[in-house]
Amino acid sequence: QPSPVSRTHQPNPEAGAAVKAADRAHVFHSWSAQDLIDPLAVAGAEGSYFWDYDGNRYLDFTSGLVFTNIGYQHPRVVAAIQEQAATMTTFAPAFAVEARSEAARLIAERTPGDLDKIFFTNGGADAVEHAVRMARLHTGRPKVLSAYRSYHGGSQQAVNITGDPRRWASDTASAGVVHFWAPFLYRSRFYAETEEQECARALEHLETTIAFEGPGTVAAIILESIPGTAGIMVPPPGYLAGVRELCDKYGIVFILDEVMAGFGRTGEWFAADHFGVVPDLMTFAKGVNSGYVPLGGVAISEKIAETFGKRPYPGGLTYSGHPLACAAAVATINVMAEEGIVDNARRLGAEVVEPGLRALAERHPSVGDVRGTGMFWAVELVKNRETREPLVPYNATGEANAPMAAFAAAAKAHGLWPFVNMNRTHVVPPLTITEAELKEGFQALDAALSVADEHT
Ligand code: PMP
Repeated sequence: QPSPVSRTHQPNPEAGAAVKAADRAHVFHSWSAQDLIDPLAVAGAEGSYFWDYDGNRYLDFTSGLVFTNIGYQHPRVVAAIQEQAATMTTFAPAFAVEARSEAARLIAERTPGDLDKIFFTNGGADAVEHAVRMARLHTGRPKVLSAYRSYHGGSQQAVNITGDPRRWASDTASAGVVHFWAPFLYRSRFYAETEEQECARALEHLETTIAFEGPGTVAAIILESIPGTAGIMVPPPGYLAGVRELCDKYGIVFILDEVMAGFGRTGEWFAADHFGVVPDLMTFAKGVNSGYVPLGGVAISEKIAETFGKRPYPGGLTYSGHPLACAAAVATINVMAEEGIVDNARRLGAEVVEPGLRALAERHPSVGDVRGTGMFWAVELVKNRETREPLVPYNATGEANAPMAAFAAAAKAHGLWPFVNMNRTHVVPPLTITEAELKEGFQALDAALSVADEHT
């Protein structure tokens, strides 16, 4: 087997400096104070690695923003995009187009239950926007319930629905969104000591929220099947099934957001598959084509699709089902199926990642909690294991965030690009990662956690 980084990459600091200079002059970056950032100029990427213009190579434990599920530059997917570009680069959404039809068919074959119709979007946030709009039109009700510890996208409605601090600055309080607490035993809002208690109390809290909001006003409950950026909190067994029952009882549309957890990330095609739960609407993006070309969508159940059988759906996008993005999805899904990539995520998650992280937790007092499944893991860093005080305060910035910045810098110095959010590092590498690459990454994590330990 050739090394995953088989192409030579010669250092070229001058070219890197030019890329960086144009970026700093003209690119306005997401979620950032423009004058305070220092983005790395990236020269190339392949498999589980990327490298800069100075010749430094990094093992990517972030999969970009948790989307390169099949790694960078998979040759079959690159070839499929090239072939589609050569034959039909683009076409308007109102036509039946081979790449679009085939992508929809392959997705519908894998989504649970009767989620058999696919509405394509450009990414995750607009998938959430459309799912919520479908739920409101289907029920004729105004409100959406979503979890505090959640992220659903950066566009206006999606950011209102988001629970985590990325909502604060942009929240339009009249959006008809009500937040509630979903289960999270490590930091239980319900004073629970067991998964069973956490599950039962979280469901009771949700039903009370519905009762006090007025069941006839609630269009949808939206949850990430396994919440991602807010902390990879695998729900206790029975929780999602319990939410499904509440939705059925009160005529509420159940939306599962699988933008991050979908397409193999958790060791199943969809995270909902771990729990045997079928939502009414399911959003996806990222892993559907490993982010090679922007694509997202909503998988729609028969019941909701029927609502728009004779009555038009009043929404759409110029690039809905873009042929280039759909061709990338077709190739990605076929590659994942034929190369056993979902099985790889499940097997290496259980056999290498989980024991590796538990071993690190034994050695490092800064590790408070390790949780996850497949290639979807969070390591929560604390000042004190007994009190569980986070290593940095909630939503810390600047000096207050120095311990996490030091952790990240140490990981990078050891050739690992870590995912860092608040007081957590997430281990979310490509699903195609090898055992040897994981072990290399764990050595770097070990060194970086020693730096975090100094702040306990
Ligand atoms: N939902 C979830 C669960 C996500 O993780 C994200 C992105 N991190 C989104 C929605 C938004 O997706 P996008 O950035 O493609 O709009």
